[in-house]
Amino acid sequence: MTSKPRRLSSIDELQFSAVLSDLDGVVYRGEEPVPGAIARFNRWRETGLPYCFVTNNAEKAPAAFADKIRRLGIDCVPDQVVTSGEIALEYVRRTFPKGVGLYVIGTQAFKDSVVEAGYDIVEKGAAAVLVALDRNFNYAMMATALTNILGGAQLIGTNPDLVRPLSNGFEPGAGAITQSIAAASGATPIFMGKPEAAIIETALSRLGFAPSQAIMIGDQLETDILAGQRAGVTSVFVETGVPLDARAVVTPDYILASL
Ligand SMILES: [Mg+2]
Repeated sequence: MTSKPRRLSSIDELQFSAVLSDLDGVVYRGEEPVPGAIARFNRWRETGLPYCFVTNNAEKAPAAFADKIRRLGIDCVPDQVVTSGEIALEYVRRTFPKGVGLYVIGTQAFKDSVVEAGYDIVEKGAAAVLVALDRNFNYAMMATALTNILGGAQLIGTNPDLVRPLSNGFEPGAGAITQSIAAASGATPIFMGKPEAAIIETALSRLGFAPSQAIMIGDQLETDILAGQRAGVTSVFVETGVPLDARAVVTPDYILASL
């Protein structure tokens, strides 16, 4: 971590062999591409520079993210996307035997991935409450989560993001849902995804590079940039997503207006 970030006029000023990048606020906002991002990734692809996207968004399977990225005009296969949902499932596999019941808040795609991993989705007696972004989240679901936690379930958030950038503003993130359950139950949640280093380490191992050879590009200090730092990767903050939080204590290595 540097004490003061250096402002770059172009990312070409840096030398690196692999790119890890956030999606929301870096590659797209909602359905709209972020200016400059498509051309930049295409240039990297043409020069043979490997890249992998790391997202705290657990709404969709990696294949669905790869489809969206390709639709926007960037070459991408499912293996080039690591989601916080995948990291959360890795944690669940390490922590609970298969067949255990989990109470899951999230999209159908996320619930499908939990079932595919060998776990039952239950309303009562869950070993854990697993929370991803669910736009149908409501009071009854909060109450069910509370009851399970009071019965001993662990509270696991796929990611700590409180807000997500959209093309025309922001929406509450999965972290806000998890924290509402934490507030009601008194449970301390554990979070997967960024800023934990595991998602960065998974992406690096897929690309086959060491942390010192890669950069991590992101628009959120407390998640993207902190995760990069924890994994030992040079961090580049781009100003195309969530506005810089003056209260943030995380300092990126570099700041860039856009890709
Ligand atoms: Mg972002």
